[in-house]
Amino acid sequence: MSSLYVDELRIARGGHPVITEASFNVPHGTTTVIVGPSGSGKSTLISAIAGLINVNGGTLQLDAREITNVPTAQRNIGLVFQDNQLFPHLNVADNVAYGLRRKGVRRSDCDVRVSEVLQLVGLEGFGERAVGELSGGEAKRIALARSLAPAPELLLLDEPLNGLDDSLHDRLLHDLVTVLSTSQTTAIWVTHHRKEAERAGTQLLRIHDGVVSPESTKRSQWNVQIVSADDTFDLRRQVLRDGTRTADVNFDGDETAIHLSVSDPASGEIIAISSWFQRNRQHQTINGLQLRGMASHPNYRGQGAAQALLRSGIELGRSLSVDEVWARARDTALDFYLAHGFHTTGPGYLDDNTGLAHHDVVLSLR
Ligand code: ADP
Ligand code: MG
Repeated sequence: MSSLYVDELRIARGGHPVITEASFNVPHGTTTVIVGPSGSGKSTLISAIAGLINVNGGTLQLDAREITNVPTAQRNIGLVFQDNQLFPHLNVADNVAYGLRRKGVRRSDCDVRVSEVLQLVGLEGFGERAVGELSGGEAKRIALARSLAPAPELLLLDEPLNGLDDSLHDRLLHDLVTVLSTSQTTAIWVTHHRKEAERAGTQLLRIHDGVVSPESTKRSQWNVQIVSADDTFDLRRQVLRDGTRTADVNFDGDETAIHLSVSDPASGEIIAISSWFQRNRQHQTINGLQLRGMASHPNYRGQGAAQALLRSGIELGRSLSVDEVWARARDTALDFYLAHGFHTTGPGYLDDNTGLAHHDVVLSLR
C-alpha cells in the first residue's frame, strides 16, 4: 500500500468544471472519506483518480510515482461500486481471482490469494458458490474481496453501501471499516451519507461547489478551554460522575502537559478532556484556531496512556472499574472525535511509551 498525493486537481465534465480545487493526501493504510451531495462530483473525482477520465490540471502521485497520465490498468488501483458488478457467470472464487488472472498470476498462486481474501472478508469456504446465491451483504463482501485480491496500492469505493436497508447498511459499514483497517488498505470512500462518512474513515473531507476541503465543525458548537493540571483532575472526576471509584482516577502529572476541556455550550456538559504530553510529541501547538488531540485507533487495543476521557466512559461508568472505563474510552476515542467534527492529520504514529498507534486529530475552530 502507498500514500496518495492529490495536488491542485481540476476536472471538467462535458465542458463544465466539476472539480475546481482538490489538494489532499491519503496517508498509507488509512481511509479518507469524502462526503458530498448527489451531483457534487464524487464519482467524477473517483473516476479521475482511477484514470477512467482525464484531468484538466493538477497531479496525482502514489508514493514517489506520478500517475496523472498513467493508463488505468497500470495504476494498480482497485474499485468498489455501489452495484458490486460481480460477473454472474463466474462462481465466487473465479470472481475474486479475476484481477489476479488478468495480471497473469498462476492458478495455484491465485487459489492461495483467493482463500486469503475470502478469509479476510469472513467468507472462507464460499469459493464454489454461484454469485446468484449470495445475499446482499455477502455479495458486497465478495466485491470487496475481489478488489483487494490483486493487492492494489489504493482502493476507491464509490458509495459502496448505497441502496441497502438500514440494518444491513450498519452491519456492512462496520465490516467494511474493519476489513479496510485490518488489511491496512489505503482507501478513498465517497458517499453522500453524512453519518456513514463520519464512521467510515480516519480523515473526513467534503466536496462543496467543486472544492474538496476538510470537513469542520463551527466554533460555536464547542467551548474549548485550557485548564490547569489540578483542574483536569477535578474535571475528570466530574466527567466520571458518581458510581465510579473516582479516587482511582490516576493522572499523569507531567508539567509539560497541556490540558483542554471541551464542553457543550448548550448544556454546559463537559464532553471531553484532552491532555497531551510534550515529551511524546514534537509538534503539539495550540494556535488558537485548532484543538489538537490524540486518539488511539480501535484496532490497537491494549494498555497505554489514555488521552481523552469520553462520553462512552460516562455512560458506562457506573458498573465498571476505572481501568475498564479508561480502556473503553480509549477504544472509542477516534470514533468519538471523528463524529464530533475532528479530522485526522496524518497516518498516525507509535506512542513512545506504549508502542501503540495513535492518530493526531484536529478540530478546526474557524
Ligand atoms: P456524484 O457522484 O457526486 O453524484 P458526479 O461526479 O456523478 O456526482 O457528477 C458531477 C457533475 O458532473 C454533475 O453535474 C453531472 O451531471 C456531471 N457529469 C457526470 N458525468 C458526466 C458525463 N459523462 N458527461 C457530462 N457531465 C457529466
Ligand atoms: Mg456518484
